[in-house]
Amino acid sequence: MSKQRSPQDLIRPAIRALSAYHVPPSGGMVKLDAMENPYRWPDDMIKQWLALLRDVELNRYPDPTAAPLVVRLRQVMAVPDDSAVLLGNGSDELIQMILMAMADPQHVVLAPTPSFVMYKMIADVVGMPFVGVPLNADFSLNRSTMLAAIAEHQPAVVFLAYPNNPTGNLFDTQTVHDIIQAASGVVVVDEAYHAFAASSFMNELNKYPNLLVMRTVSKMGLAGLRLGLLAGASAWLQEFDKVRLPYNINVLTQVSAEFALNNLAILQQQTDQICRDREILLNALRSIAGLEVFPSKANFILFRTPAARATEIFMALKARKVLIKNLSAVGGLLSDCLRVTVGTPEENTIFLRELRQILSV
Ligand SMILES: *Cc1c(COP(=O)(O)O)cnc(C)c1O
Repeated sequence: MSKQRSPQDLIRPAIRALSAYHVPPSGGMVKLDAMENPYRWPDDMIKQWLALLRDVELNRYPDPTAAPLVVRLRQVMAVPDDSAVLLGNGSDELIQMILMAMADPQHVVLAPTPSFVMYKMIADVVGMPFVGVPLNADFSLNRSTMLAAIAEHQPAVVFLAYPNNPTGNLFDTQTVHDIIQAASGVVVVDEAYHAFAASSFMNELNKYPNLLVMRTVSKMGLAGLRLGLLAGASAWLQEFDKVRLPYNINVLTQVSAEFALNNLAILQQQTDQICRDREILLNALRSIAGLEVFPSKANFILFRTPAARATEIFMALKARKVLIKNLSAVGGLLSDCLRVTVGTPEENTIFLRELRQILSV
């Protein structure tokens, strides 16, 4: 056998320096860490879905264009007729396609920080420099530093999560417009939480050739399907499409997503319920002394604990079988911050009860 080369010899240093995206075990926990919709479908809807699945031909490759699903998604997400559409295996894959197609050491990826971790993580993987521009202390965009960073770095792509994850707020609309106008590259407005936000840039696509709007069905209640959508000018999307693997949307996802979107009223009832429960949870958290609670237009709430107590509180909740997200280690604006997903009323009540108990001892 020839002398074997090790991972150290062959894996790029940029990859070896990364740590894999960590998903903590959640068996038996009240799971409020990942912005999932906590609700299942009514029994008769599950029955209809299973009947559809019976006819799916798992022996055949999927429709590479997912044509019927695209028609339905265009309607449901109100994509303008003259915008093109590209589907991803989750919107995470769309971020990856955009950056793979643009990958070049001269092409900067720019996003406010803190924001969705995948923007930087995928930029690191494909070897694009990432510039993070700090948000203001209230997590609003700092208009002048954003515009100055865009002028300086001329980013190939700017990502704006709208509402932002992990902070939950919507950015000022006029500032987003100013950023799109100032950018010489593309601006991706990531509307993963659109179902909870009632505000969108989808209608602005006709106005800006460099605007791309990204959506996902994950936070609407279909996280297990892995389906995201990118809308924008076909001049951009036909290039991104070239790095897409041909059958990225599997047959089960195509059939199930189309079926779910044909039963949109059920999904909307669930997201409406989550929005109402978000307001209840916001008020309850605000009534707990010592917490700083940030406004949210998403299905999660960010809050700051008393100084240097976030990790202890997070661990105590975990010991009591309630799993939320600890963001404190990120540091900076997220020091002492925890993020809780809005669950069912019962789950939210358990979380609040345990949190109050932990804080009172
Ligand atoms: C959850 C999330 C996504 C990823 O969604 P998937 O479609 O499940 O890959 C994208 N952007 C933001 C801001 C998110 O919070």
